[in-house]
Amino acid sequence: MGNMKPEQYTSEEVIKRFGKLVDVIIVVDKATERYRAVIRRGMFVDLFEEEGSYNDLISTLLIHLNTTSEKLPEGYQAFLPNFGTFTRKYSRRLKLVTEEGENAHIVQMMVYPLADEEAYLLIMDELDSNENEQESQAYRKVETIEKTFLFSMYIDLVEDATGSLNISEISEDDVQAELKYTDWRNMIVNVIGKDDQALFMERSDPDYLKKMFSPGRTSSFDCLMQNLEGIYIWVKLIFSRIETGNPEDFKYVFMVQNIHEEATAMFLSLKKLSDMALTDSLTGVFNRGRIETTVKNAVREKGDEPVSLMIMDIDYFKSVNDDFGHAAGDKTLKRFARVVTNCLKEEKADIGRWGGEEFVIVCYNKDLSGAADLAERIRSTVENTAMSDTKGITCSIGVTGIMENDSFEDAFGRMDKALYAAKSAGRNRVETHEI
Ligand code: GH3
Ligand code: MG
Ligand code: MG
Repeated sequence: MGNMKPEQYTSEEVIKRFGKLVDVIIVVDKATERYRAVIRRGMFVDLFEEEGSYNDLISTLLIHLNTTSEKLPEGYQAFLPNFGTFTRKYSRRLKLVTEEGENAHIVQMMVYPLADEEAYLLIMDELDSNENEQESQAYRKVETIEKTFLFSMYIDLVEDATGSLNISEISEDDVQAELKYTDWRNMIVNVIGKDDQALFMERSDPDYLKKMFSPGRTSSFDCLMQNLEGIYIWVKLIFSRIETGNPEDFKYVFMVQNIHEEATAMFLSLKKLSDMALTDSLTGVFNRGRIETTVKNAVREKGDEPVSLMIMDIDYFKSVNDDFGHAAGDKTLKRFARVVTNCLKEEKADIGRWGGEEFVIVCYNKDLSGAADLAERIRSTVENTAMSDTKGITCSIGVTGIMENDSFEDAFGRMDKALYAAKSAGRNRVETHEI
């Protein structure tokens, strides 16, 4: 069972594994919406019955969660049918007050759907003050990384009101029960990422919510939001309209889910994929499509600073293949690309494989003579680099500068002519095409 996640356990396994560690284990049957407490210890013994209706249990917990009132505020009732619909892990640290005026107990509460059973598991454990103190600081940090619901709230558009379960982790302060929804929106928009603020205002607009959400409908969007430490993290903002038979009733649940870890991982793989699509797989430099676009952009966007182009072609490369085999030829191409890329380390330049053993470089901030100097440096470095598996190689290079109102075809034609001239003049040479 070593690394299994709780949601993969059956209820028997959970009891066996966690029974001694936590104060409460409750199994909730989805179909009957009844619960049974299989473990109940300490303060929890007096808090709720061994079994009963799940709604009653949640209702009881909410009374104790609410530190200011004995009676469950009406607005919170709206959450009750909604609580039964969690289908994924939910983990919260919350404050329970068993008797008015007493200090709050800090309780870790987790809800898990159970494997292969139409049931949920509700696990609660009181943290002693020591644990609580030690962990409270680390907890906030862990929390920003953990995939959890950071915050949830109840919205009534007819009353223009918001209410909060007292389990908010965005703020430790008691949330003002009387905060108007319209005011809340204008407040919260300030912690939303700049680029997403317009989206947030559009999607949280009361008219939008009324129009787009039939009763029971849930919809979400992702955006950046500031966490307690002022760092922007990726969150999923979820609006869910509460089931109602009354079309004039517009009550919603709003939730913020921390999706930073997955979102960041996804962006990274997206970036990797898009890089792959633009990279030559053999040599790792830009591929043909990307270097062609780069050259075209350089020609089209030619500003005040000089930009030059060069094309390089390995001399007698066919004989490398012929004498040492295709694999050695591939290795030589890789090596050549690495050597040239190294020469460009200090330069503002892009390099790509044009095809076969031809490479193109765009040199920014270099006029024709500057680019010719660089080309000469590349030529001599290549000539003086020993190749382990094959004989040494040389290359010929054609260079041209991009002119005002140049076209891609013209610039490329000049560069190609210069290369041809270098080849004709005996190879292992740099030739420029005068502007
Ligand atoms: P030149 O000095 O006139 O450029 O002679 P060359 O032999 O380099 O020119 P040619 O165009 O006749 O030959 C290029 C060779 O490059 C032919 C082809 O087999 C080889 N080649 C092209 N792409 C690859 C590749 O990806 N791997 C290997 N191993 N060889 C390649
Ligand atoms: Mg060639
Ligand atoms: Mg060649």
